[in-house]
Amino acid sequence: MTTVATTTSTSTATRTAGGAGETAMPASGAETAMPASGAEIGVSARVSDYTARFAEFLAREVAPLEKELAGQGAGTPSQPRFDEKGRMSAAVWEARREVQRRAGAAGLYAPHTSAEVGGGGFGRVEMHHVEEFVYRRSGLGLGLAALAWTEGPNPAVEHCSPALREQYLTPLITGEITAAFCNTEFGAGSDVLRMATHAERDGSDWVINGSKGWITNSHFADVLQVVAVTDAGAGTRSLSMFLVDGNAPGVTRGVDLPTTMADGLTGALKFTDVRVPAENVVGEIGDGFGLAMSWINWRRLCRGGMCAGWGAWLLERAVDYAQQREVGGKPIADQQVVQHMLANMHADIYQARATSLVAQAELDVLGPYAKPLHRDAPRLISLVKVINDEAFFRVADTAVQVRGAAGLIQDSPEEKLFRVARNLRIPAGTSEIQRNAIARGLLRSRAA
Ligand SMILES: Cc1cc2nc3c(=O)[nH]c(=O)nc-3n(C[C@H](O)[C@H](O)[C@H](O)COP(=O)(O)OP(=O)(O)OC[C@H]3O[C@@H](n4cnc5c(N)ncnc54)[C@H](O)[C@@H]3O)c2cc1C
Repeated sequence: MTTVATTTSTSTATRTAGGAGETAMPASGAETAMPASGAEIGVSARVSDYTARFAEFLAREVAPLEKELAGQGAGTPSQPRFDEKGRMSAAVWEARREVQRRAGAAGLYAPHTSAEVGGGGFGRVEMHHVEEFVYRRSGLGLGLAALAWTEGPNPAVEHCSPALREQYLTPLITGEITAAFCNTEFGAGSDVLRMATHAERDGSDWVINGSKGWITNSHFADVLQVVAVTDAGAGTRSLSMFLVDGNAPGVTRGVDLPTTMADGLTGALKFTDVRVPAENVVGEIGDGFGLAMSWINWRRLCRGGMCAGWGAWLLERAVDYAQQREVGGKPIADQQVVQHMLANMHADIYQARATSLVAQAELDVLGPYAKPLHRDAPRLISLVKVINDEAFFRVADTAVQVRGAAGLIQDSPEEKLFRVARNLRIPAGTSEIQRNAIARGLLRSRAA
């Protein structure tokens, strides 16, 4: 295992130097069977330190809050009750916020954020191990909130102006405020370039009009990362990203859009003449597509550790259940067909996890969020997402099957994760969009 310092300096250098990954890599990573030289997949010393501290945090800080929440009749973190607008109950939301703030104070909330802006500075392989640990240990409990999810800091918001660092970025890193990424519209999903929300210059300000749909945390976010069309001159359009205060005049939060996730977190937003100063532009005008992709790619890469962690948790539960459950006077684990179900779960988890580690190790060398992105990066990122999402769907489906009717009990881990797994194949780019990116990478490398 390369030392931690080497891993850290590699990922930091590629992130800050933009396309620095275009060095020792062959013309097409599609032709490489092994990770690029310098890529490591092992657990670094600081990941071991992180997971030990996280386990202690779960026992000391999260367990009492979880107990308190259970007594309130507000539902569980994975199956909250809803308020009259269909939103996550206030008690569950507040319990999650408390965990986020405490995790921020303990330095556990944002290990993925660059060290230069006050985050942990972990590379992608390190984050795979962290995410795998957190999802396996927390299951569906309140502890999941301790590691930043889409409400937290992300690679795009790191490009905010120095003036906004103190106002938004630092409080996001410490878990004191939450964000929402506002990209999708009802009329523009996979074809995001067709979005209609636009921003127009007015003096030194920008004025935003339009609406967004299917936005996670739209009900509660303190700051909105809004992607909008801007005029690129000569009748052409570009995309730009703006930070909009959630309470700014002209921002309207819509009702919940209830999905199979049943988490009371997904909704719509409307922007009517929302005025923001020029310093609220993230990066430069015209950077919006690249910034949006860095947010989306971050979410795609998180699928590796998430699916490995939850997959391992479901497999452990399935093995235990198969040994305990007796049908016809003997454990179902004695049935070869059940043994094969367990073996198939293990094979799926093992392959998807290996894909994630190898691809993310290559991306640590290439720069997962570099601007411009290395030409091999989109293919690798999409491989991580589609392989993990689809393997985890089969794993969750089999986990239900092993239990028979008991696997269908509402909000049991198996039933809930089956619904989560079904969802994963759509947000952050559908499975079809991932295959498009993989094929594009292959065909371009053949043409080169
Ligand atoms: C629970 C949830 C949370 C979400 N959170 C957010 C969020 O926080 N922020 C945000 O901005 N968005 C969010 N989204 C939106 C999500 O990113 C989009 O739903 C997704 O990108 C797909 O867009 P769409 O739903 O409009 O499907 P469509 O684009 O309408 O696609 C419909 C079908 O056509 C296929 N298709 C479309 N175009 C192509 C093509 N070119 N090639 C092949 N097949 C194609 C798709 O694969 C799909 O099967 C969320 C969605 C969900 C369900």
